[in-house]
Amino acid sequence: MSDWEDEYEADGVTLSKPLSVQVKSWRPPSPQRARTRDTGAPRAEVDLDGGQWTNWREPTSNVCDGETRRNNSYGRSRGGRGGGCCDGERSRSSPTILNVDNSLVGRIIGRGGAKIRELEESSGASIKINRGVDEAEVMIFGSGDVQLKAKDMIEDLVQGRSFRGPMGSNGNSNTGYQRDSCWSASAVQAVGAAAPARVPIDWIALRENRDKYEAIKWQDLPPLKKDFYIEAESVAAHSAEEVKIWRKENNNIFVDDLVEGEKRTFPNPVCTFEEAFAHYPGIMENIVRVGFQKPTPIQSQAWPVILKGIDLIGIAQTGTGKTLAYLLPGFIHMDEQPLPRDQRNGPGMLVLTPTRELALQIEAECNKYSYKGFKTICIYGGGDRRAQINKVRSGVDIVIATPGRLNDLQMNDLINLRSITYLVLDEADRMLDMGFEPQIMKIILDIRPDRQTVMTSATWPTGVRRLAKSYLKNSMMVYVGTLDLATVNTVHQMVLIVQEEEKKAYVFDFIHRMEPQDKVLIFVGKKIKADDLSSDLCLQGIPVQSMHGDREQCDREEALQDFKDGRVRILVATDLASRGLDVHDITHVFNYDFPRNMEEYVHRVGRTGRAGRSGASVTLVTRDDWKIASELITILERSGQDVPEELVLMAERYEKRQREKEMYAPKGGRGGGRRGGFRGGSDRRF
Ligand code: ADP
Ligand code: MG
Repeated sequence: MSDWEDEYEADGVTLSKPLSVQVKSWRPPSPQRARTRDTGAPRAEVDLDGGQWTNWREPTSNVCDGETRRNNSYGRSRGGRGGGCCDGERSRSSPTILNVDNSLVGRIIGRGGAKIRELEESSGASIKINRGVDEAEVMIFGSGDVQLKAKDMIEDLVQGRSFRGPMGSNGNSNTGYQRDSCWSASAVQAVGAAAPARVPIDWIALRENRDKYEAIKWQDLPPLKKDFYIEAESVAAHSAEEVKIWRKENNNIFVDDLVEGEKRTFPNPVCTFEEAFAHYPGIMENIVRVGFQKPTPIQSQAWPVILKGIDLIGIAQTGTGKTLAYLLPGFIHMDEQPLPRDQRNGPGMLVLTPTRELALQIEAECNKYSYKGFKTICIYGGGDRRAQINKVRSGVDIVIATPGRLNDLQMNDLINLRSITYLVLDEADRMLDMGFEPQIMKIILDIRPDRQTVMTSATWPTGVRRLAKSYLKNSMMVYVGTLDLATVNTVHQMVLIVQEEEKKAYVFDFIHRMEPQDKVLIFVGKKIKADDLSSDLCLQGIPVQSMHGDREQCDREEALQDFKDGRVRILVATDLASRGLDVHDITHVFNYDFPRNMEEYVHRVGRTGRAGRSGASVTLVTRDDWKIASELITILERSGQDVPEELVLMAERYEKRQREKEMYAPKGGRGGGRRGGFRGGSDRRF
């Protein structure tokens, strides 16, 4: 494992999450399902479907309890033979049925149906798949032995393994299934003998030939053009010293070329829109229409890099115009491809973003700067899947998606990702925090490797650095601000040390003092608290909306729209709303509960003071939050804020206690905890 990976794991970001949660167990179709007794076998970590979702290994015992028993009863009624499910009865005429999550069916079918054909050939079974809304019924026809063999192979595929032989080389069972199987060893051996011998996979040879296979995989791709930059004379004329001063004065921009070997000259920044887009009148029309005066610092420095076709990592605070920084060059990139649009057979730009709200917001931004009639689709979990599929089929140019839902469509061959030439990983830090890396990895496997990739993030933790190293090639980096956490310095940040039971009084007092033009976003730590506080406010006749991961998507969208449009001036939310959401006129952020970590604090506070406006934040800190006191002090000092004396005392007390603990604690205790904690791949935890 590379140093990067070591660092990455130390940072607490898992490389993958257990698949078992995704896999629906083999279960008997109703009404037999009702008869399946609880075997006491270990359940999966998440019991998603009212107890119907079980650990995928559980079918080992369910084979007896459910499916096989059903089949035996068929056998009895037809052949009149008695005996329990473990009596070696193997002649089945009714099909075996596996329920498989739709997102995993692609693994059974394979590209162009190749996998399923192979399955049928090697097992001798006939396989039929009926897709439902969320899951598919995989029906296996054939004799009992044949069904059993095919079922085994399908379970392997669903689990992401290649087919395995039914027996180990020593003649003993080599799978959990067979160890606990109700079939006798001789019966299973007979199946093994009948099966064609499998050729073991030569992994070393495969690895050696990886480049060759990659080349074959991508051999039919159309040509790709990436460099569209014509540097304006006024830009080229800047001396190195002038550029250095400009970067210093524009929020202390730091640039770097991350190419291995000799560094390239970093492009000079553009100071006006014309300097970047004079050759693209369609883009200029859009800018004139929205009335922006000049590029933001990240845009000034990002546009020349992206337009030159170089992969870019853009790190800048929230609200600094990162969306437009990647969208406008993306429009040009797509429009100027050598292969005409109508022959591309799929979208050209993909923006991956962590939450549904952000996806919708980027879509809105995209539509605002419409260019050459590009069609955009927003793909996110919770939205109408069927409608999303239909829109993809009707032909789209730009896909804005959350990784989970896109991965679902990809696995089911419902979207072509081979046509994508411009990829954006937006809010990469948040996507990692939410455990999306496995899905991102799978998605990118289907995107041509010579694409252009842009990654944005508000922070630069180890996990993001590792992501950049994996998915960007010879990239350049633009870092606006310092290399440490920094809050927006346009926000006046007030910190109050309070008791937990005083919090409600503080927030009510704050609300009663609000001016008519004020708009406040109140952050709480738990979904239940968001419901609790918003209903308390409602009971007092105060118009309020709330937003958290347990609310229906349509309610979340309505809440956000009400808040944006000013129908309510108070939004109570969990950290679901802490990043990227762009509501211009939030005047205050009220941290009712302190966030999980300082990065989240920076994002929350960044919800106000946007687009050059000033804003204010109020943060309630209780004794339970004392471990963050010293980090909070650093942030406040760095952005020139007052630091309350009580906070300093709190930090000192905490440090003293830590020292004492270290002094008296026995050596070699438990290892440190993980930062961030949750790794869910979903926004439902907020
Ligand atoms: P980020 O992604 O960095 O958090 P956004 O891209 O959401 O920020 O931009 C924040 C707001 O600033 C948006 O409403 C956007 O329309 C606006 N904006 C973008 N570029 C400019 C600009 N050059 N001048 C003024 N406003 C801008
Ligand atoms: Mg953004």
